[in-house]
Amino acid sequence: MADFQGVDFLRIDELLAEEERLARESVREFVSKDFLPLLKPHIREDGSFPMQLVPRMAELGLFGANLHGYGCAGMSNVAYGLVMQELERGDSGLRSFASVQGGLVMYPIYTYGSAAQKERWLPALAAGRAIGCFGLTEPDFGSHAAGMRTRAERRSSRWLLSGTKRWITNGSVADVAVVWARTDDDIQGFLVERGTKGFEARDIKGKFSLRASITSELFLHEVELSEESRLPLAKGLKAPLSCLTQARYGIAWGAIGAAMACYDEALRYAQERKVQGGALAGKQLTQQRLVFMLTEITKAQLLALRVGRLKDEGKLHHSMVSMAKMNNVDVALRIAREARDLLGANGIVDDYAAMRHMVNLETVRTYEGTHDIHTLILGEHITGLRAL
Ligand SMILES: Cc1cc2nc3c(=O)[nH]c(=O)nc-3n(C[C@H](O)[C@H](O)[C@H](O)COP(=O)(O)OP(=O)(O)OC[C@H]3O[C@@H](n4cnc5c(N)ncnc54)[C@H](O)[C@@H]3O)c2cc1C
Repeated sequence: MADFQGVDFLRIDELLAEEERLARESVREFVSKDFLPLLKPHIREDGSFPMQLVPRMAELGLFGANLHGYGCAGMSNVAYGLVMQELERGDSGLRSFASVQGGLVMYPIYTYGSAAQKERWLPALAAGRAIGCFGLTEPDFGSHAAGMRTRAERRSSRWLLSGTKRWITNGSVADVAVVWARTDDDIQGFLVERGTKGFEARDIKGKFSLRASITSELFLHEVELSEESRLPLAKGLKAPLSCLTQARYGIAWGAIGAAMACYDEALRYAQERKVQGGALAGKQLTQQRLVFMLTEITKAQLLALRVGRLKDEGKLHHSMVSMAKMNNVDVALRIAREARDLLGANGIVDDYAAMRHMVNLETVRTYEGTHDIHTLILGEHITGLRAL
């Protein structure tokens, strides 16, 4: 099959800088040549990731790509978005790996960490020598993280951390977990290293979605931490929420990649598949489906690009990211469902990508703020009335 060429109906490429296109092309090639050929066994075995690719991902600057210094690539936010798009064209699990490492682990250390924490962790995380995870969600508190029960108690110069975090990407392979906990002085963040006494991670099995990604539960029982483990500048729920804004921004782009993969596959299939004496692509209903896909991808591209430019100019409001995440994941999921349908019976096997993207996008719709929660964030922004 010919290489994936991208989707660019409105000549959006002309709006990109050369380095943005180059970043996209190098990740596109990595996904086609290095990642996709390795993917199938990881999809069949729930909860595993091709860890051998981590050094190559680091070499390509994929971890913390929009951060500066500490070995990070220092890309523009648009280039970073295009990188996320290409990773998710491969699989949402691949994009999640990079999103968590960069947006949810490196970003909080970069923004809220001490100089010593930054020196210790950022170069290692950027180089893929260390893996991180982000523990906010709990078994009983997902959308409403403010209700969290995980608690850190101060004991003279030490902290005792206890609680359970659930649905944590890369929990069991992480060298460092960014764990958010309630304290006497608001919600704060702590860096918990693998192997610390009282800290255990167990993987969650039986996922239909995001199978090429490790998802874990973290158990923290009176984990003793030094004051140096606390992120000194993170105070209140707004700190973890600011990390989520970074990751959600990447998701708004990533979803376009998944949608492009489905559209590309559906178009090629419809051109080759013969039904009732002619190409499936020649039927009116097929064309209607393909036109829907292309139109929604194009609208999603424009939305992501505008949000990216505003982010680069420092003019981004988090509600804009909510709109982009909510819309782009929603249309990507609808496109994946249409593509799966168009492929008929072939659409249900893992030789084709549409159904894999479809079930992955069910997770993407739920994590990093569900579709409903982003609707309510935007609703509040418009009306000034909080319905959450
Ligand atoms: C594969 C995977 C990986 C993940 N990785 C991470 C990670 O690395 N770190 C991390 O901290 N978390 C992670 N999560 C957790 C994710 O962020 C949460 O699942 C998400 O925030 C939703 O929380 P919940 O599952 O508890 O659903 P709930 O909050 O219980 O929501 C259930 C339903 O109720 C709706 N709802 C909730 N509140 C309202 C309301 N006020 N009004 C109307 N409807 C409402 C929701 O939209 C949803 O449809 C991951 C999840 C998955 C599936």
